[in-house]
Amino acid sequence: MNDTLTALETELRGILGDKGVSAELVARERASVDGSRLSPVITEQLPLGLADLVAWPTTAEQAALVVAAAVRHGVPITPRGKGTGNYGQAIPMSGGLVLDLSKARTIVEVGDGFITADAGASLAALEQAANRAGQQVLMYPSTANSSIGGFLSGGSGGTGSIKHGMLHTGFALALDVVHAVPDATIVRVAGADAEPYIHNYGTAGIILRATVALEPLQDWRGFFASFDTFEQALAVIRPFADLEPTPRLVSADQATLANALPTDAAIPADRASLRAILDVASVAEATRLVEAAGGRVEDVREGAQASMKISMMSYNHPIEWLQKAYPDTYFHVEVSGDALVDRIDEVQAVYPGGMLHIEAQKGRPIGMLAGVYSSAEEVYAGFDRLADLGVGYHNPHQWFVDYQPERTARLAETTDPHGLLNPGKLRREPAVVTGDQR
Ligand SMILES: Cc1cc2nc3c(=O)[nH]c(=O)nc-3n(C[C@H](O)[C@H](O)[C@H](O)COP(=O)(O)OP(=O)(O)OC[C@H]3O[C@@H](n4cnc5c(N)ncnc54)[C@H](O)[C@@H]3O)c2cc1C
Repeated sequence: MNDTLTALETELRGILGDKGVSAELVARERASVDGSRLSPVITEQLPLGLADLVAWPTTAEQAALVVAAAVRHGVPITPRGKGTGNYGQAIPMSGGLVLDLSKARTIVEVGDGFITADAGASLAALEQAANRAGQQVLMYPSTANSSIGGFLSGGSGGTGSIKHGMLHTGFALALDVVHAVPDATIVRVAGADAEPYIHNYGTAGIILRATVALEPLQDWRGFFASFDTFEQALAVIRPFADLEPTPRLVSADQATLANALPTDAAIPADRASLRAILDVASVAEATRLVEAAGGRVEDVREGAQASMKISMMSYNHPIEWLQKAYPDTYFHVEVSGDALVDRIDEVQAVYPGGMLHIEAQKGRPIGMLAGVYSSAEEVYAGFDRLADLGVGYHNPHQWFVDYQPERTARLAETTDPHGLLNPGKLRREPAVVTGDQR
């Protein structure tokens, strides 16, 4: 380590104690990987960076002191929650300090319609705390054990997004952030002022504490159905999105993908699978829809655990299970639009071995289109074919901020004038290979 890093390490030990900072290789390596192995394109380029130091503050206030110290020493800072982000977003590409916030996980307050927690608190913990107060979080990702800071900074949506849309639609009510400026202190931003800090990987400021919206708790059921064909399951995707009350989640997979999911008697082998989190009041209508489409209801389960289990088989998770079943074979592209239902054969034919995992949404379904991987060029070549079919796509094989990058770059000019926050993720021009933004 050079003198600057040694001086920073000494200062951080003063703030956090010896257990709160490490320069050991094993700790640095652990803090330098994320979920990017989901992308074979990124996997081919790993390792993309290695931390020099790792710090584990246990409170938002400590984290602000750590950031201020790193800024004084001119050391890059890559914030980290649970490291499940799947685009290489949490990899410290310029080395420096990884600020691991997973131990700063206090739930500060549960109020009427809101919950406030330190950035490292998990979404599962937030949901449990909300449930105890007769409420529920508006949304949480399928990686429910990931951190609220990481979800707001790197995620998109998940369970609850059918009704509430993706992250940018009023979920974050207020944020305590710290900027990479001299004498960095905690700054509170609320409402519209909080929005520019969402989904840009901490490049304009690090979230130390978040207040997110809650709604009254509903009586949910875990609903499992199966079908002879994927087309039958697709036939109920849009009607399920329109059920009243709106479901929290509706996911479906064709048989090969369903076979790769964790073993469950309600996901029978070699059948298309539909899993949903339904308000108890809509179960009868959902059953009617499934049977009218030629399917059968496999199980209806009560309890928060049933919902959590279904959540953890949604969004990117079926792709991860597929990759476990067939190592080094599949990649995926995030897709959206009615063509996922109306032109499924053409959509799946875009890539060799094409297979769709679909999620119901209000308006238009979204999904993960898996295909057999040959090269990055073949992945990108499929984007135009998807667009020709009217399919929106998002490229999960690159790590640049691609949601409003110009706005983030403008904000970062004042909040991170020396480019110390998560370097390598923010560029001034729009991302090249990106289509529809979810
Ligand atoms: C199998 C699989 C399934 C997934 N499913 C979903 C899903 O359903 N929905 C979804 O939205 N995402 C999903 N993801 C992506 C990811 O898991 C989530 O977005 C998750 O919420 C990220 O949280 P984390 O704590 O792991 O963040 P990390 O991976 O640690 O960080 C994510 C990004 O945010 C930055 N960051 C972390 N903490 C902070 C902070 N406090 N302040 C500022 N920046 C910060 C990091 O530098 C990084 O750029 C999935 C990923 C995988 C691998």
